[in-house]
Amino acid sequence: MISVAAETTDLLVSLGVAPARLTGGDLAARSPITGEVTARLARYDAAAVASATKRAVAAFLVWRSVPAPRRGELVRLFGEELRANKAPLGRLVTLEAGKILSEGLGEVQEMIDICDFAVGLSRQLYGLTIATERPDHRMMENWKPLGPVGVISAFNFPVAVWAWNAALALVCGDPVVWKPSEKTPLTALAVQSLFERAVAAFRAQGHAAPDGLSAVLIGGRELGEALTDDPRLPLVSATGSTAMGREVGPRLARRFARALLELGGNNAAIVRASADLDLSLRGVAFAAMGTAGQRCTTLRRLFVQEAVYDPFLDRLKRAYASVAVGDPRQEGVLVGPLIDRAAYDAMTRALDEARAMGARVTGGERVEAGGPDAYYVRPALVEIDAHAGPVLTETFAPILYVLRHERLEDAIALQNAAAQGLSSSIFTNDLREAELFLSERGSDCGIANVNIGPSGAEIGGAFGGEKETGGGREAGSDSWRAYMRRATNTVNYGAALPLAQGVRFEV
Ligand code: NAD
Repeated sequence: MISVAAETTDLLVSLGVAPARLTGGDLAARSPITGEVTARLARYDAAAVASATKRAVAAFLVWRSVPAPRRGELVRLFGEELRANKAPLGRLVTLEAGKILSEGLGEVQEMIDICDFAVGLSRQLYGLTIATERPDHRMMENWKPLGPVGVISAFNFPVAVWAWNAALALVCGDPVVWKPSEKTPLTALAVQSLFERAVAAFRAQGHAAPDGLSAVLIGGRELGEALTDDPRLPLVSATGSTAMGREVGPRLARRFARALLELGGNNAAIVRASADLDLSLRGVAFAAMGTAGQRCTTLRRLFVQEAVYDPFLDRLKRAYASVAVGDPRQEGVLVGPLIDRAAYDAMTRALDEARAMGARVTGGERVEAGGPDAYYVRPALVEIDAHAGPVLTETFAPILYVLRHERLEDAIALQNAAAQGLSSSIFTNDLREAELFLSERGSDCGIANVNIGPSGAEIGGAFGGEKETGGGREAGSDSWRAYMRRATNTVNYGAALPLAQGVRFEV
């Protein structure tokens, strides 16, 4: 089989990335499939960040006045590039992030979906007209482009998260400056190359597009910090750990910039006795083991009602023991590698802590695959009595803590006792239970599902969560408003000047 490094280079070149960019630098890109170095990229410095944002400001001054449906045409062309290159880009996601192939392709599909959504949106950036108390007046809301947007993204969705932001930002009139994860810089280079092809196609249609509508900055967290502090960026959308958001949020607040924070999750599901257990098993298995437990929406805590606890756990254990772990490029494999050694060490520590609390751990051992520098694990099921210790932490690995419950109210209270508030589910065939879970006394998360696991959102809904998840919303619904500024305009078309609230001021 061709080496991962050689295949990575071939794919990057086929997607238009110059080979010279892939050697000679000191940022080693690695594939978690084997742990091997796939490229050595030049790191950007603070001056490069400053020049990218300066170019983005210049681009904004032009792009903001291009009609929104025309801006949508550029996003449509970008979506076409993604369609044409879905297979190689999806495979590159697999090579760089270690997802199984269908998930790598699914991530590119998500990019295509958000492009389609944004194209439609480009004709629907509506403001309201509001009844005014003054005669011969009209009051309305006007949504205008905001300015260049900084995007900081995490390794586990190396391209889709950027697309959620960029597709909306671009139709809203905002250029984008992107700091991808230092663990997944190569897919970012490929996406930038496809975007540049779309810009060329847009210009070939006779439309003007400024340079600098999209820039990619290669490097570590210091570049994310530089974006956070750059006064030319009125909005920074940052996806990653809660620890990162805790630093980025206050720094943005200090300069009164907008923050769109998409941070960690500690997601739960409740299985009630009335549930369809076949469906629940499939929902739990995908949400807990998919992407090797490295999704922000991964299911980490499971509350099973007493009456079905033992039969459900038996079936779950069998599923955990039989799931194929290994090279994510292979047909039939459902669980690929952890991103790196640090992730494996964090998983081991969490399992040791749980054992010290008396938990019964099934799985969790390292699986020999991919060589000594690759970290594959059998997903772990942890039966634990206390909702405490590692259960309350997001360990970015496939660990599912399982607890018993009897009353739904108690399960909901435990579910909501996590510091994060991203995603949640209930499995039940009881209408009252489902509706209670979705009510104001139910889940406190940004996403609450019935008879579907907590992971695997589609782009039409607003995505994001409460509490330590950061409160941001991206993708569908009215998330676009974060990328625009709202002005309330009042026009007087009469000859008098009546003041609001009956105030009199005659001069
Ligand atoms: P991470 O926090 O280590 O890094 C994320 C990004 O932030 C990287 O680009 C990194 O360079 C940058 N960064 C780190 N510290 C920074 C700082 N102080 N200032 C500016 N930038 C900084 O996260 P990760 O390990 O790449 O990803 C896993 C985490 O991301 C998990 O917690 C997961 O739940 C979360 N995540 C959340 C969502 C969501 O939508 N809520 C989506 C994907 C991942």
